[in-house]
Amino acid sequence: MSQANQQTAYDDNNIFAKMLNGDIPCHKVYEDDKTLAFMDIMPQAEGHVLVIPKQKAVDLSDLEPEYAAAILMTSKKIMQAQRQVFERDGIVQMQLNGAQAGQTVFHYHVHLIPSSIHELGRHAAIEVDHEKLAETAKQLAAVIEA
Ligand code: AMP
Repeated sequence: MSQANQQTAYDDNNIFAKMLNGDIPCHKVYEDDKTLAFMDIMPQAEGHVLVIPKQKAVDLSDLEPEYAAAILMTSKKIMQAQRQVFERDGIVQMQLNGAQAGQTVFHYHVHLIPSSIHELGRHAAIEVDHEKLAETAKQLAAVIEA
């Protein structure tokens, strides 16, 4: 754990660690050897995706360079797919470091949200219909695979 992140030790039982272990399900959009991308179940706009590294990192201070690079490359794929599926240029890329910043899950993740900074919905507030999430995940995945 780095100097900048002394307050939160990595918890192997956090919800994203459980997803990586296959202990709980997610609406997967994309996966490779270093990253996993899936639908946020309490989206701040339709099509809100999270990208996580397959590294035990609480926040940016812990992220190793190879995972940082992989996260950005996956984020780029997701953003390009969102632009196509939602027919909009504007995609918010957001990432919270520490509870003080509003971080609620302590496994590093990037938010990619087809929205504007002026129109974002409430953070981690309202769980939406999982059938719709599954459908959107499929649409995004199909564009990435094409
Ligand atoms: P943060 O507050 O930046 O740590 O963001 C955590 C995000 O994880 C929030 O946007 C939540 O809506 C989202 N979230 C929490 N639990 C789950 C879950 N089981 N599957 C997908 N997204 C989740």
